[in-house]
Amino acid sequence: MDELIKKAAADLAAARNVVALTGAGISTESGIPPFRGKGGLWERFDPMEIAHIDAFMRDPARVWNLLVKEMKTIVDSASPNDGHKGLARLEARGILKTIITQNIDGLHQAAGNTDVIEFHGNFAWQRCMDCSRKYQTSQVDISEVPPRCSCGGILRPDAVFFGEIIPPEAMRRSRQAAADCDLMLVVGTSAVVQPAALMPVFAKEAGAKIVEINPEKTPLTGQISDYLIRGNAGEVMNRILQQLEK
Ligand code: NAD
Ligand code: ZN
Repeated sequence: MDELIKKAAADLAAARNVVALTGAGISTESGIPPFRGKGGLWERFDPMEIAHIDAFMRDPARVWNLLVKEMKTIVDSASPNDGHKGLARLEARGILKTIITQNIDGLHQAAGNTDVIEFHGNFAWQRCMDCSRKYQTSQVDISEVPPRCSCGGILRPDAVFFGEIIPPEAMRRSRQAAADCDLMLVVGTSAVVQPAALMPVFAKEAGAKIVEINPEKTPLTGQISDYLIRGNAGEVMNRILQQLEK
């Protein structure tokens, strides 16, 4: 891994426009389970089914009970780990410009990054399905599910379920960021959820270098990414930063 850390540090130092694409894997070290991979929710149920808008429409109480309640408890108490902090340090050094994240946990902003595109929305807010009024998730009473708006409508996370479209502005900005960057760091994503997994492909097409950080291979590895640094985001980011700060 040492050689790849040095290479990544050199590539980052030489790049002029760095964008990161992050997934659930960067938040596992903050105690938030990913969908796939070890300890993922996948081992207990099929996220594509439970986190699908059709499942929510059919039975909101079930999805609140199986997924959203747990997510709320975990996200309410999570804080950024060395992976998030490493990306914030890269921004502070003037190296990293934008993060495109698939995560809905708000931890990049908590770490201090200022330009974060939330590709799948965020979990900080719940939205009424009838009148669109928004409530802060931490303020929502979940003693009975699904929680309801003062108008009686059902509250849903203000995030993107499987089967829903990406917020158009997030999509537009992400495509632009991917097309404009000369290096994309792809951290902690299994790169199978579309269209997020296309962003490295767009970046590659536009001539960018693609560097993956993940303990496991993904469909991008060896195809789209120039190299994979196999390891946990926290440790790898720390080592890259150490190398850069030498
Ligand atoms: P995923 O769950 O499909 O894959 C997680 C990836 O992270 C795997 O490739 C795994 O090998 C890797 N990984 C695990 N631990 C890691 C670590 N310490 N450092 C680096 N990599 C690590 O995640 P995805 O690709 O983001 O797709 C899942 C979808 O589910 C996303 O759309 C996201 O919106 C949603 N989701 C979000 C959260 C969150 O907000 N934290 C959590 C679960 C799921
Ligand atoms: Zn309402």
